[in-house]
Formats: sequence, C-alpha cells, structure tokens
Amino acid sequence: MDAFEYNPNPGRVVFGSGTLQKLPEEITRLQVKAPLVLSTPQQVSQAESVKNVLKGQVAGIFSEATMHTPTHITEKALEYARAQGADSVISIGGGSTIGLGKAISIRTGLPHICIPTTYAGSEMTPILGETADGLKKTRSDPKILPGTVIYDVDLTMTLPAAMSATSGVNAIAHAVEALYARNTNPIINMMAIEGTRALASALPEIVENPSSQSARSKALYGAWLCGTCLGSVGMSIHHKLCHTLGGSFNLPHAETHTAVLPHAISYNAPNIPEAIKQLADALPDSNGDAIHGLNVLLEKLKVKRGLKDFGMKEEDIDKAADIAVSNPYWNPRAIERAPIRELIRRVWAGEPAK
Ligand code: NAD
Repeated sequence: MDAFEYNPNPGRVVFGSGTLQKLPEEITRLQVKAPLVLSTPQQVSQAESVKNVLKGQVAGIFSEATMHTPTHITEKALEYARAQGADSVISIGGGSTIGLGKAISIRTGLPHICIPTTYAGSEMTPILGETADGLKKTRSDPKILPGTVIYDVDLTMTLPAAMSATSGVNAIAHAVEALYARNTNPIINMMAIEGTRALASALPEIVENPSSQSARSKALYGAWLCGTCLGSVGMSIHHKLCHTLGGSFNLPHAETHTAVLPHAISYNAPNIPEAIKQLADALPDSNGDAIHGLNVLLEKLKVKRGLKDFGMKEEDIDKAADIAVSNPYWNPRAIERAPIRELIRRVWAGEPAK
C-alpha cells in the first residue's frame, strides 16, 4: 500500500426519493428561519415546491441563477437577500444555481443547503468558479463546501435524457481523473470505481427510458460519489482542457466534458496503466480496453462528439493548444504541444478516441 493522506469533507448528505420533504427537519437542525431559495428561470416551479414544503416560510425566491456565476447576478441576489432578511440559502438546481449559493454563502457566512438536480457534482466540492468582466476565476476554500446536501431522485426525473447523458459523463470524468490524481487515496479510489460503475450502467438505461426511477436513483448515487472525488483530490489534463475550451470558446459545460473525456484519457493512458485497468473493469462494454469502453458508452448515449457542433471554429484549435500548453500543471504525462493539438483537433472533429 502506498502512503496517502485523507481529508474527508464534512458535509451532511440526505439521499433518497421524496427527501425534499425532509427539508423542514434540516432547517430546524441548522436553527434558521428565513432561507433564500435560489434557482434558474427554468426551475422556478421546483423553487416554488421548496417554498411549499416550508409552508411559505422563506425569505424569498431569487430565480436568476445563470451559467458561470457572473458576479453582477451575485450582487443582485445579495442585495435581495439583505432586503428580505435571509439567514440561509437553499439552492435547487444544477452547478449554475449551486455556484450562486456558494457565492452568496462565502460572502455572507450564511449556511447553504443544496438540492442538486443534475449530476455535475458541485454540491460536494469546496470550489467556486465566478465570472467578472468576461473572465472566469476559480478558487477553493473549505468554507465554500455546502453544509447540507439533499439528493432527491424525484427532482432529477425532469432532467431531459440528452442532458442526463452529458451531465452523467461529466460526473464520470471527475472519478476517472481521481483514479490517477497525485493525491488520491484508497477511499477516493473506491468511490471513483463505484461511481463510474453506477453511472456507466444507469446512463444508457436513462437514455432509453428517462422515467426509470431505479436508473435515475443509481445515476444520482454515482453522481454523489463522483462529486466527492472532484471535491477531494486534484484534477489533471481532462478538467484543465475542458476549462480552457469552455471558458475561451464559450462551449457548453457538460457537452464539452463528454466530447473530451475519451481523448484526454487516451492521452494519459501510457502513463497510468493501473487506472486504465480499473476503469476498464468499471465500464460494462470495455472488453478490457478502457478507451473502447468509453467510446461504446458515448455511442449508447447518442451524444454529439465534435466540438465543431457546439460552435468551436477550426482556427480555434491552435489557440486552444497554445493556451493548454502555456499554463503548466501536474499531469501524469507531460503536456506536449503537438500531441495536445492533435487531441484537440480530434475532439473538434468528433472522431472517436484511439
Ligand atoms: P446547469 O446548472 O447550468 O443547468 C443547465 C440547465 O438545466 C439549466 O437551465 C437548469 O435550470 C436545467 N436543469 C437542471 N436540472 C434540471 C432538472 N432536473 N430538470 C429540468 N431542468 C433542469 O448545468 P450543470 O451542468 O449542472 O452545471 C454547470 C455549471 O456548474 C458550470 O458553470 C460549471 O462550471 C459548474 N460546476 C462547478 C463545479 C464546482 O465544483 N464548482 C462542479 C461542476 C460544475
């Protein structure tokens, strides 16, 4: 056994079907009375259900959460929170809404209850990405980690099949990079394998039958485990590339993760034989070949694989390669421009990973 360090994140997790009904108990537990409920404009009805479950006892609903957590929206939400006398925040939604909850909580110290409705995993991390003047900056602070997370499978039933597929692969990406993180440990390793296994079997079922409660439940369980991996150990080339591509060319978050994943893992494969073996074992159709397993999974999920389909231009390939190599970071394989450019070209074109 290699030496390791392990720091469990202290958040409380409530998981199940219908668990939104447990929200009043969680509010009592935190000894708060006036939570501000956050959502996107698309999820106002779920924010309303939160208010109903709390019998109207909320400071208000702020439904302007949006991608990349722009600071001007955070300022507006803070102003509303102060005016309404909010003593806590509840975010119901995906990474965008949870990001706003984190941004408010870290500025005010208000307790944050998260009710995630996608598989992105932000609820399990002490990480916050915020955008100001078109620039996205990411920071990590233990105080950013939400104190309570309520996973209610029922709230994920409305996540459209295509979004479920890419959001789920986004989660798998956290686990795969955790397998070879420099600071990984046996607990995170187990979570990464179990999370990948759960999502890789549940996602194709969800695409075939989005109303399968058992598949949804397994996927959300996997998302929790994968989010814990993201919140606990360092990420490498895959996450850095997605950050560069998403931020520089305004590409959609989960779809970018999905297109990049097999290519990023294929790039690292020669240097991570143990992780590749573990990944192959966790993917149902791998036949002992992890990259093949990822390619088959994406085929089954019927997802778009080319970043050109999301508006990235061919001339952006060189720009992306320059940014990726100009910002050195730890990765199991050295970041070299020529193979990185070829990786980005293949992702842009939507060719399967080799
Ligand atoms: P999202 O939160 O942007 O949601 C996408 C859309 O789906 C929104 O319109 C939302 O309202 C809708 N939606 C969400 N759940 C739904 C449901 N159950 N039914 C119907 N519609 C639903 O998407 P996301 O992929 O969850 O989050 C992406 C953002 O989160 C990015 O900005 C990313 O950087 C951030 N993120 C941060 C971390 C972190 O640790 N800080 C981790 C993962 C993602």
